[in-house]
Amino acid sequence: MERIANYIAGELVEPAGSSYLESIEPATGKAHALAPDSDAGDVDSAVAAAAEAFPAWAATPAEERSKLLLRIAELIEQNLEALAQAESRDTGKPITLARRVDIPRAAANFRFFATAILHEKSELHATDHAALNYTLRRPRGVAGLISPWNLPLYLFTWKIAPALATGNTAVGKPSEVTPLTAFHLSKLCIEAGLPPGVLNIVHGRGGDAGAALVAHPKVTAISFTGGTKTGAAIAKAAAPKFKKLSLELGGKNPNIIFADADMDLAIAEAARAAFTNQGQICLCGSRILVERSAYERVVEGVAKAAKSLVIGDPMEDSTQHGALVSREHLEKVETAVELAREEGGTVIAGGERAPAPNERCAGGYFYRPTVVTGLGADCRTEREEIFGPVVTISSFENEDEAIARANDTVYGLASMVWTNDLRRAHRVAERIESGIVWINCWMLRDLRTPFGGVKKSGVGREGGEEALRFFTEPKNVCVKM
Ligand code: NDP
Repeated sequence: MERIANYIAGELVEPAGSSYLESIEPATGKAHALAPDSDAGDVDSAVAAAAEAFPAWAATPAEERSKLLLRIAELIEQNLEALAQAESRDTGKPITLARRVDIPRAAANFRFFATAILHEKSELHATDHAALNYTLRRPRGVAGLISPWNLPLYLFTWKIAPALATGNTAVGKPSEVTPLTAFHLSKLCIEAGLPPGVLNIVHGRGGDAGAALVAHPKVTAISFTGGTKTGAAIAKAAAPKFKKLSLELGGKNPNIIFADADMDLAIAEAARAAFTNQGQICLCGSRILVERSAYERVVEGVAKAAKSLVIGDPMEDSTQHGALVSREHLEKVETAVELAREEGGTVIAGGERAPAPNERCAGGYFYRPTVVTGLGADCRTEREEIFGPVVTISSFENEDEAIARANDTVYGLASMVWTNDLRRAHRVAERIESGIVWINCWMLRDLRTPFGGVKKSGVGREGGEEALRFFTEPKNVCVKM
């Protein structure tokens, strides 16, 4: 069984307490790796290494930092197949998805920020012939980066790349549920020649290693992606220490389909937005809202798409729908569907575990793509994040009602609008309360744009300029003329 190590001060090391956690392969239900169960002492060693490396890394010319990060991107691309296999084994997602999306995007994250820092500019404000004010941006120091299990390498590198590019050093804590790709990344960083201590990766449990990282006095900025409840606990722990904080949290994203939309495309994409990665993407469209006259067609189309997805061994190329990430998560999704039934919902597709696709996967966590109709806006199923392959479909009469339904949630991460009426598209986009609005598309991302949510979906933004600013402290220099 693969034994994962922490990455501290440029070396792969055992946790100080020699304690390990079994990492379970979701497709089989069997342990496939051992990951360090690190404690506050391991986190302290990692932070000390990062603090020691900080002055030299911050003083390293941007061009050299850029070259090193580009080298990591290259190595990710060269190791695409091995990383995709690790990602698929760790998460239960179809390997084709890991190959096509997760791993290429991890390389793209490094490339994007490695080149962005070569084009940085500063601001200057001339004050009525009296003074010149210019702004210097300096790295903040040691950044704490905490990421979830659903897109493990993609989201981890989305934090690591901007933190390092801007001259910070970092300690990352991947989810204990999916440690494999972060371990591979450690090895690639060593191969790339990243100076010791610039990036450190500590594996372990959120409540132990994660909480110790958030609390550590030498960690000046925390970038966290995960659940809203965990985000609240982190905000509470970080606030009295005045740490810079970015929180990317949960969602219950509305997918609004107007009757004038290109209906075949809207239906196909609504199903893709609901079920990609077994519905375990924070940006998934988990609430489909359809204009009354198109309702039957959308219900039928999405149910048909749900039933036609090939459920299979995640490691096989033909698989479109893999395993849920853990037994606990499978049970959570089952409970959510039971609740939907109790609330009066009609399950028109799925609603049950799927049989194991082969012998290897006999103990795996497979659940059918599920479509529920007939629920009122006040139901818990319509309000609480399920984070699994479950989508609800309801109808609306007009634009105002669509927007009211879309906004009737504590979350505000992403939304989708399907219409061929240009003016309506802009009008609705303006009125929806979410950080991202996709018009006639889903998951189309330009890494320069701000990424993040409003309301309980988070505070702060990642991506492009926002990330460069998050990881740097502005200093105003005022020169009297
Ligand atoms: P969690 O909040 O449970 O965990 C996220 C990370 O935080 C993990 O590394 C976890 O470690 C760690 N953690 C847990 N408790 C603490 C703590 N007290 N202090 C510090 N770190 C802690 O989320 P999940 O991993 O279950 O991910 C699913 C959630 O993430 C969903 O709600 C989803 O919507 C959200 N998400 C949001 C995204 C966004 O961009 N807005 C993107 C992707 C997911 P461990 O796993 O070891 O417990």
